[in-house]
Amino acid sequence: MYFDHAATTRLDVRVLNEMMPYLTDEYGNASSIYELGKSAKYAINIARMRVASSINCNSNEIIFTSGGTESDNLAIKGIAMANRFRGNHIITSKIEHPAVLNSCKFLEQLGFRVTYLNVDKLGRISLNELERAINRQTILITIMFANNEIGTIQNIKEIGKIAKKYKVIFHTDTVQAIGNYKINVRDMMIDSLSMSAHKFYGPKGVGVLYIRNGINFIRQNDGGHQEQNHRSGTENTAGIVGLGKAIELATSDLERYNEQLKVLSDFYIREVAGKIPNIKINGDLNNKLSGNNNVCFAGIDGEKLVLALDKKGIYASSGSACSAGLINPSHVLLATGLTPNLAKGSLRITFGKENNIDEVKYLIDNLVEIVSKLRK
Ligand SMILES: *Cc1c(COP(=O)(O)O)cnc(C)c1O
Repeated sequence: MYFDHAATTRLDVRVLNEMMPYLTDEYGNASSIYELGKSAKYAINIARMRVASSINCNSNEIIFTSGGTESDNLAIKGIAMANRFRGNHIITSKIEHPAVLNSCKFLEQLGFRVTYLNVDKLGRISLNELERAINRQTILITIMFANNEIGTIQNIKEIGKIAKKYKVIFHTDTVQAIGNYKINVRDMMIDSLSMSAHKFYGPKGVGVLYIRNGINFIRQNDGGHQEQNHRSGTENTAGIVGLGKAIELATSDLERYNEQLKVLSDFYIREVAGKIPNIKINGDLNNKLSGNNNVCFAGIDGEKLVLALDKKGIYASSGSACSAGLINPSHVLLATGLTPNLAKGSLRITFGKENNIDEVKYLIDNLVEIVSKLRK
């Protein structure tokens, strides 16, 4: 039973079917000028239009990348470097994905200054604190749309307004939000965003950077001028086609999908809270990704919990997949004010479209038993 959809999702068979020709007969290089190449180029451009229409931007504002990590790196480093003559200050939050945090750390080594905003106990930044952090040197705000560990959704439209008011570029990591939340970059005043296909039932190793026309940024890959010369390298045609199909499926079905996940999550949280004492529910229950559930079990090591669940055929995670294997407690949970000991006892259950209520009942039964055993 798979309850780790924030780590990755299963490829939808309809996506695979659209990809298949480009893994077999349609193997042309999209830069070639003969039929086989043109056919690949055409397929890539269909995908580009699907992505653009799903977030309400122009096709020429879409750059295909190798995934969320590359998109975050390209946006943050590329925007910082292109705008360094205007200023050297960047604002982000303490609960960002490592792709954002470590890009910021890298820039600090080059002389940029970074403000890491605090979050409250539900994982939300303060808009007042954001506004106060802006100074004449500020060139970029990068705040994630929805957090991958606790699911908290930020007030992106208000952040976009503040960025616009002070003429600061606004990037947001929407890797967790795409496929869960309707995103309109014009309405929300988003200048740049990252997405990753494998988080919404698409293939791994392919993502998107949207970057608004008129925003200066410097490419990271030099080469054969693909992707409007913003990201060189032969296009991953099959992956891009898969991403295009996956985003079309995801955005056409948002309401029903969220309703389904909310039923599972509400049931899970109610049962866990009713049956297991000494727990702490993390994140903002009123404003979170509907499939994301993060709970700390006091006195328990989250990794042990994950391994015990694995023995029962249940896949879940303690914190994020990206930091799994590290002994440190989650930087996200610490930022929400948890003690390191309590933070270590976290279990992240993220539901997806294959899950049903019987699976959740099986999960609860096992969780009750395992938690009481581990506590003894
Ligand atoms: C998964 C994830 C990423 C990284 O995306 P990859 O495609 O796996 O590199 C970045 N940000 C967030 C919020 C994520 O959940």
